[in-house]
Amino acid sequence: MDIEKIYKILEKELKEYTIPLAEQIDIKSKNSFYVLIGTMLSARTKDQITAKVCDNLFKEIKNTDDLIKIKIEKLEQLLYPVGFYKTKAKNLKLLAKKLKEDFNNKVPRTIEELITLPGVGRKTANLVIAVSYKIPAICVDTHVHRIFNRIGYIETKNPLETEMVLRNKLPKKFWIDTNYLFVILGQNICFPRNPNCEKCPINKICLKKIK
Ligand code: SF4
Repeated sequence: MDIEKIYKILEKELKEYTIPLAEQIDIKSKNSFYVLIGTMLSARTKDQITAKVCDNLFKEIKNTDDLIKIKIEKLEQLLYPVGFYKTKAKNLKLLAKKLKEDFNNKVPRTIEELITLPGVGRKTANLVIAVSYKIPAICVDTHVHRIFNRIGYIETKNPLETEMVLRNKLPKKFWIDTNYLFVILGQNICFPRNPNCEKCPINKICLKKIK
């Protein structure tokens, strides 16, 4: 399969779509602390909702000390209506404390360190590294996992397996752009149910292994 061609087509044809939240935050703020928070908050929440919450939140929270000092009730209010806002508020407070105590208030640059932070899994860690630090990393979320299997580039059972297989198979030069391109494709064209293949720019290459 000509994966180079797929990336070329997607980069050209998906330009008109809204970019995912983490990239939006990075472009606006160039601040890895904000990218990390935005990525954590966006789990199970639409980007539009998370973006509004982040705009308000970042007016009050500028650094780890602000997060440590803010009352949990006030933080919960600021995070509502993102999904699981109470758990996320609790995790953010713990995360700020750990960033301050163990990482000198800096967002770490490795997956191994990032996943020691409360509420941060591999998906978030990979995204922060790729988006904020431009270090090659593959953030495999549900869209990346689904579409790579559908096009027939890999055959895997879950996102972790997909990440590991892609790390071996996918040339490194494509890693950073992978999440961004496949999230746009998954949100707008290659839906989990009833993918809109007619409108898809990679229709002619895709093997359409749709389960
Ligand atoms: S052709 Fe269809 S199945 Fe393949 S990536 Fe496009 S929308 Fe998805």
